Amino acid sequence: MRNLVAEDLGRRIRQTVRDVHDFPQKGVVFKDITPLIADPDLFQAIIKTIAGDAASESVDIVVGIESRGFIFGAPVALALGCGFVPVRKPGKLPYKTERIEYALEYGSDVLEVHRDAVRPGQRVLIVDDVLATGGTAAATATLLERLGAVVTSLAFVIELGFLRGRDRLKAWPVRSLVSYD
Ligand code: AMP
Repeated sequence: MRNLVAEDLGRRIRQTVRDVHDFPQKGVVFKDITPLIADPDLFQAIIKTIAGDAASESVDIVVGIESRGFIFGAPVALALGCGFVPVRKPGKLPYKTERIEYALEYGSDVLEVHRDAVRPGQRVLIVDDVLATGGTAAATATLLERLGAVVTSLAFVIELGFLRGRDRLKAWPVRSLVSYD
């Protein structure tokens, strides 16, 4: 199970992820990843694959996006022998922060990172559970670049390909384990 080839892992993820209709609002099909992480073999295969795909990128730091990016990002950091940095919603981080405001469909949102979380030139891999419109991931990558980091790639478990999030992430390599087109 831990050495699943990409198609087999993709099939297992599709079989296991739970679609929750009209959550958190009407019209949204929410990809519930909790069944993926409740399955120890599948969880481990996901982490091993994300880490393996980034193994040649000389990553120094794995960045996880709040909150489900922490679930996948922290074990990927351990697998790569890297540190882990959380990018959080506003007001959660206790020390001096760098912040970025980014547009949503209606309104805007803010993400923050500790100012000393990365040193200039450090190579970071950004991890999150779902790539939807790409706004959150693009803001995170831009925030890390403002601190002087080099974003080597972005990795997602699930990509909602029909939302064309990759179009907003053209500046960086993007990988996902399964895409819904
Ligand atoms: P976006 O900025 O549109 O790419 O949205 C990305 C963030 O929202 C990620 O952190 C996801 O966890 C979450 N997200 C967006 N759409 C979904 C969805 N359909 N199911 C689960 N999570 C989602």
